[in-house]
Amino acid sequence: MALDLLIRNARLAWRETEPLHDIGVRDGRIVALQPGIAGDAGEVVDAAGRLVSPGFVESHIHLDKSCIIDRCGCEEGRNAFAVKRISAIKPEITADDAHSRAARTLERCLMNGATIMRTHAEVDPRIGLRGFEGVKRLVAEYAWAIDIEICVMAQEGWTNLPGVDELMVAALQNGARVVGGAPGYDTDHPGQIRRIFELAREYDLDVDIHLDFGNDANDMDVPLVCDLTEQYGWGGRVAIGHVTKMCALPPDAFDHMARRLADTGVALTILPATDLFLMGRNQEMNPPRGIVDGNRLIRHGATANLSTNNVMNPFTPYGDCNLIRMANLYGLCVQAASAEEIARCFDMFTIQAAKLMRVPDYGIAVGNPADLVIVNAPDRRHAIAENRETLMSFKRGRRVFTREPAVLHRPS
Ligand SMILES: [Zn+2]
Repeated sequence: MALDLLIRNARLAWRETEPLHDIGVRDGRIVALQPGIAGDAGEVVDAAGRLVSPGFVESHIHLDKSCIIDRCGCEEGRNAFAVKRISAIKPEITADDAHSRAARTLERCLMNGATIMRTHAEVDPRIGLRGFEGVKRLVAEYAWAIDIEICVMAQEGWTNLPGVDELMVAALQNGARVVGGAPGYDTDHPGQIRRIFELAREYDLDVDIHLDFGNDANDMDVPLVCDLTEQYGWGGRVAIGHVTKMCALPPDAFDHMARRLADTGVALTILPATDLFLMGRNQEMNPPRGIVDGNRLIRHGATANLSTNNVMNPFTPYGDCNLIRMANLYGLCVQAASAEEIARCFDMFTIQAAKLMRVPDYGIAVGNPADLVIVNAPDRRHAIAENRETLMSFKRGRRVFTREPAVLHRPS
């Protein structure tokens, strides 16, 4: 059989106890998967027993406002004032500027194994559609390396801000595939959430909302989102991000909400870097972590994933676009301890995130697209626990990047 690509000696993710497999690829798809495939191929790669995973899923990132930290004013005191500091520079942002910053961040994601992405893009009267347009150009330009879908959102308010609704509709009619929002910055939380669901139905879109960021469990919007998901029959098509308030729920109430998320089909995205950076700014001592225990959600049958979110902006003036590193950080914060629970952190930017994005044909199986990542680790658990590096990735069988493993130069 003529193959375009043959990866030899792969330790398949989730099948780590099985013998090493070879992966044969033709025309962008996996056509053979078994130990010791005979024959040759256009490109042959020896994974040498390393972990091979399906492509990583960066399910929640803001390419449009990445890499702007040096243009924004400084923090004053303990409050980050992130929205205000970004809002101040929005009039200067052109579509070309958004495009070049977003491309820089996107390329870092590619070189850490992402092959599928959902990026949020803000619209409001200060930025107009320029950020959205700049990011939208990347979808076609980088189709060789990654599938990108855009979630359009309003960060500075919606029902209370004239002009936002028209811009949201314009973006939804012009290529956005997901409708999002940030009701926490709206004077009318339920009003914004209801409008999001109306638009989702009108344009047949998935929903992804920044929700319930806060230090206590008061006035949570999760119940309304679950109710509307049920009412609209939108189960499996709704995601919520942050939900740090859930960390303040007593265990029984947490478990009850976890089951409600599972039953209604609302997925939860944990954004460890931003949550850690912004939580507890009202406290002088012992700020809370604010990282929802996604492992516990998964044990209740809910979909829980993690993602990078903000990169080098006032919400998070850090960012390496490395999902393994993010999962390592997350696992430490939620105190994931057993080998099984640490391995599950790997699931949260792969199978769990793919489920949230309803990716068809995800995973290493014959017939599926050859979206693959080789990790310099023997299994998922060690990839996370030891923060191991990715060595190469493939999008539909074509190599996207290569990283050489470090070599120790002993004295001779
Ligand atoms: Zn976000």
